[in-house]
Amino acid sequence: MSDFEAKLSKYADLAVKIGVNVQPGQALVVNAPITAAEFVRLIAAKAYEAGASQVKVNWSDERITRLQFEHAAPEIFSKAPTWYAGEITEFAENGAAVLSVIAEDPDALKGIDPVRIAEYQKTRGAALSKYREFIMSDKISWSIVAIPSQAWADKVFPDVPAEERVNKLWDAIFHTVRLDREDPVAAWQEHLNTLEEKATVLNAKKYKKLHYVAPGTDLTIELPEGHLWAQGDSINENGHTFVANMPTEEVFTAPLKTGVNGTVRSTKPLSHGGNIIDGFTLTFENGKIVSVSAEKGQDTLEHLINLDEGAKYLGEVALVPHHSPISESNILYYNTLFDENASNHLAIGTAYAFCLEGGKSMTQEQLEERGLNSSVTHVDFMIGSAEMNIFGVTNDGTEEPVFLNGNWAF
Ligand code: ZN
Ligand code: ZN
Repeated sequence: MSDFEAKLSKYADLAVKIGVNVQPGQALVVNAPITAAEFVRLIAAKAYEAGASQVKVNWSDERITRLQFEHAAPEIFSKAPTWYAGEITEFAENGAAVLSVIAEDPDALKGIDPVRIAEYQKTRGAALSKYREFIMSDKISWSIVAIPSQAWADKVFPDVPAEERVNKLWDAIFHTVRLDREDPVAAWQEHLNTLEEKATVLNAKKYKKLHYVAPGTDLTIELPEGHLWAQGDSINENGHTFVANMPTEEVFTAPLKTGVNGTVRSTKPLSHGGNIIDGFTLTFENGKIVSVSAEKGQDTLEHLINLDEGAKYLGEVALVPHHSPISESNILYYNTLFDENASNHLAIGTAYAFCLEGGKSMTQEQLEERGLNSSVTHVDFMIGSAEMNIFGVTNDGTEEPVFLNGNWAF
């Protein structure tokens, strides 16, 4: 076995055992592009080794997706077939774990009519609303991992000779998921403990608001009563832990839907639906996005926030130190799974139910009453930098430093 094959095998192990943590008798659904076939076969083998009852793979292909956007009949985008959401929802109802393997070309849908993309996202998002509840309330185990594709590597390393780019991206990914450590599983355990310590401090503080100050940013985010800070590992309905994002460097909670005021400026490009949005500013009044301006991708950004009412509000507040391994690698991934873990970020759209005390067992209506946002979408965007200060505002209005110059103040 070559060194690469050994690492790939360990990576599949990590995805199955730490990522979705497949249990004996449990089904595993894998969403993956056809370019990931070799890796997905390893995953299937590891999952069966762990006792999986069944491994169901949903293959996709970016070129076919692009052809569909270019040529398919209009009704394909405005109407999601019932089987589409039915299958994954049924798997979720039966307690399956869901692993998504991504290898996206950040420009896969460049030039495609953004109205068509937005319509597609909206109908799929609505069709998947029941499934999304399983995810947003941690009922089932789910995880996302990434592998390189040539197009993605070309975008990340344009200055490296073409034939070396994919290997360079593999090395970068292996580093971010700690596969270059002696014992990756132990390294993950230690890392997750560190994140939990930060969440514990914030949970004890119970700040009323966070105040963000950075060039182009002056933003206040109120946190709902009973908010909970969460980190990398989660626990599903059956008491099994899983890690939803690999890598993960964030500690996060839900904002009060109507409690966001001021202006925030993005600090990294956002690859969304096969298009790039960059250099953008959002202005909020009582939680609602009242104006947006982007140097690049204004159309895509406008379509995003007009998907539904909830897409005009925030659903996540996440803290990531500027001194994280991904951030220090200084690589711009054009992929949110990586870029969000190099930067403080926020998310437009739906909030995680588990970010509220007792939230996992609340209905959607109850969550909304408590101030959590809901939407057909959830899109993280990056706002952190070495120049960002964040203050926690206590109930009596005192401001305490949480982040100074981009890093934890405690
Ligand atoms: Zn996040
Ligand atoms: Zn998010």
